[in-house]
Amino acid sequence: MVLPEKVKIILRTLNEADHEAYAVGGCVRDALLGREAGDWDITTSASPVQVKGLFPRTIDTGIAHGTVTVMVEREGFEVTTYRVDGAYKDGRHPESVSFTSSLEEDLKRRDFTINAMAYHPDTGIVDIFGGQGDLERKVICCVGDAKERFTEDALRMMRALRFRAQLNFTMEENTRAAIRVLAPRLELVSRERIQVELVKLLLSDHPECMLDLEPLGMEPYVLPEWGNLTREQKEKAVEAAGQLSKEKYLRLAALFCIDCASENWGSLDQECAVCVRTALRGLRLDNETTDRAQILAAYHRIRLQPDPRLLRRMMSSMKPELFFDLLSLQKAWAHCVKDSQYALLLDQVRQCSLEILEAGDCLDLKHLAVNGRDLAQEGIAQGKEIGTALAAMLEEVLNEPSHNDRDWLLTEFRKEKKSISCRHAAGLEEN
Ligand code: ATP
Ligand code: MG
Repeated sequence: MVLPEKVKIILRTLNEADHEAYAVGGCVRDALLGREAGDWDITTSASPVQVKGLFPRTIDTGIAHGTVTVMVEREGFEVTTYRVDGAYKDGRHPESVSFTSSLEEDLKRRDFTINAMAYHPDTGIVDIFGGQGDLERKVICCVGDAKERFTEDALRMMRALRFRAQLNFTMEENTRAAIRVLAPRLELVSRERIQVELVKLLLSDHPECMLDLEPLGMEPYVLPEWGNLTREQKEKAVEAAGQLSKEKYLRLAALFCIDCASENWGSLDQECAVCVRTALRGLRLDNETTDRAQILAAYHRIRLQPDPRLLRRMMSSMKPELFFDLLSLQKAWAHCVKDSQYALLLDQVRQCSLEILEAGDCLDLKHLAVNGRDLAQEGIAQGKEIGTALAAMLEEVLNEPSHNDRDWLLTEFRKEKKSISCRHAAGLEEN
């Protein structure tokens, strides 16, 4: 196993001061799997005060839990004192933590066998709970009694499913059975924490593991809005999600866009948009993610054609970037439902859309050759009237890009204004 040089420096510094220190947890798991480790965490017998005394630059990240971030050059590494968790009262956090001098105790508090290994370059791997065997067998298995571990901290149930999806592992039978019993305890976990795990699951290589939510009894606590879908719809949705790039708004939208590229073409799907909004708000997702997913959901059932007028209008109303996401979403669906004809049509749509962008056609008010000041000079005083006039001009330009010319638009505008006032005068005379 190859440790980064900076991690070796931290281990050596601690060892030279007579403390034990190991790389621990996810980084050991990932190194054994040949995956790139996210972050290298270190566990040590030194107390937080001792750790702080040994390194010139540290940050008190979670000092109450024994975690100090040690800065080596510009990079931070979390160094945590060997710890045992006290009793869990709220199904999520230990009432107290206490420090221990035993590595074994520290490993015992960790969630899964594959996450409970430590490594030192001189002594090798410390694997007390069979983590290496479980890595080989590709199973997620709790350290100790699964029911106890999930009762202590309900979030671990979500983590189990997330690791299964990230690693393409199965879940050990006792671990699975314990979730089936204890899933309702997810009620005790904050929506934000559930969101973090769900997004990791969805952005993994195996979003189809989302299908486990229902049989494991987790769905009502994780994504209740998914309960309205049939099994078949969910299967298609995760299959489509798996073909999309790993953008959370895109894959989240895919979970609910169940009728693209089918015979169920329609217009704006407000019902789906509202459902996505409710689901993502419930998960406390940020506004940008929620807004984007909602727009994709609203538009997902519109059958596209390689027609520049239609495409300019679409790109104008949903912003070009998101429009290309819609194309990807529909393409993924077309593949899932084996609608190769529509998939081919979508290729033409994409080509046509790219040509529109390349041509630099005006798609929004910012690029319209006329602005509000021009109209004010034409004698239009009211903001609302100016807005209406500009919108009409944009409409014209979306139909015919060559009309995005200041003189042309203003001449037409004057003509139109004149004819309206003539009609108006005629109307008055008639009365
Ligand atoms: P990732 O690649 O997502 O960072 P990770 O395994 O490093 O995966 P972290 O959340 O960074 O996960 O946690 C680091 C380690 O802390 C885990 O490997 C595990 O040993 C321990 N751990 C984290 N969360 C829990 C928990 N809820 N219960 C028990 N142990 C946990
Ligand atoms: Mg980590």
